[in-house]
Amino acid sequence: MSAKTIKLFANENFYGCSPLAKKAIREKLKEVHFYGDSPQKLEECIAAKYGVNASNIAAGGGSVRLIDGIIQSFVEAHDQILTFDRTFVAYAQLAAAYKRNCIQAPVEEDFSCSLKKLAELINEKTKVVFLANPNNPTGTFFKHEELEEFLNSIPSKVLVVSDEAYCEYVTDEDFPDSISLQKKFSNLVTLRTFSKAYGLAGLRIGYAIANEEIISSLKKSRIPHFMNCFSSGAAIAALKDENFIKESVEKNEKERDYLFMNLKQSGYKVIPSQGNFIYMRIEDEATKMKIFNALALQDILICNLSVFGQDKSLRIGIGNRGCNKKIVEILRNLTLH
Ligand code: PMP
Repeated sequence: MSAKTIKLFANENFYGCSPLAKKAIREKLKEVHFYGDSPQKLEECIAAKYGVNASNIAAGGGSVRLIDGIIQSFVEAHDQILTFDRTFVAYAQLAAAYKRNCIQAPVEEDFSCSLKKLAELINEKTKVVFLANPNNPTGTFFKHEELEEFLNSIPSKVLVVSDEAYCEYVTDEDFPDSISLQKKFSNLVTLRTFSKAYGLAGLRIGYAIANEEIISSLKKSRIPHFMNCFSSGAAIAALKDENFIKESVEKNEKERDYLFMNLKQSGYKVIPSQGNFIYMRIEDEATKMKIFNALALQDILICNLSVFGQDKSLRIGIGNRGCNKKIVEILRNLTLH
């Protein structure tokens, strides 16, 4: 990638990370010959943020590592994992890595994920359900009542993982409070990450919030020294910098509206998003590549979802106004037929 390249394919924070996190990283530079800290202090800080006990938190090397740990710890050879077909690819990828069965239910025509229909697919083999909320790549979300109804309608032995990697970007008030739902549903696990709004993707830090029993099993699946020497200090500093998150989220909302409205007005099929990206549906692959290449030619790299086995679609990360204006102009002037 050249210095000019605008990277909009991995849903990172366009605005970087908190200056407090950067300061913490700089301070640790002189200690790179040491192993990183234990996760305990970070887990205590996360617990304090959510008003739960530290024994309800497991930090991990990115939330993908916790997804990995959940499959490793809870899914046996004869069990099934259940999720959607247009969702975060790691659920099916990691299931395959462990040679576990992963059933992927289709999303609806409007690209929303129907939890009602998903509940109908649960059988005695279903062990874990992975729900990305908001969903990646579609940006759609399901509401608090939908999640509660889903949890009420399924056996409590099924572990439900609410993967909320993009939750900080959500502006809709009906988004679930999965942590409060855990008081009623002990089979509910919440996953969150420092990779998105907190802007620390390169440091690989995610966490699970769940009941003590689940957390203690998950901790057993962790590898020694999974935290590098920067992780703990940077994440704790990032948690304290509420202003950085607030600003990132506000800018993202404004730019999300701008990009969505303008692409829609130009006739593109885009889906309303609660994340820091926008999903675009294109009915034929040739047109899709034309859009992808037109942006790439101007050094704007978006995600061609074919790399994840999802056809006829692109995912565009949301940048700042200059960058979004450029995208809008390039795509407005593109002759597609
Ligand atoms: N969950 C979802 C829904 C994601 O989109 C991603 C990253 N693309 C992750 C989890 C993984 O995040 P992390 O960097 O914490 O492993």
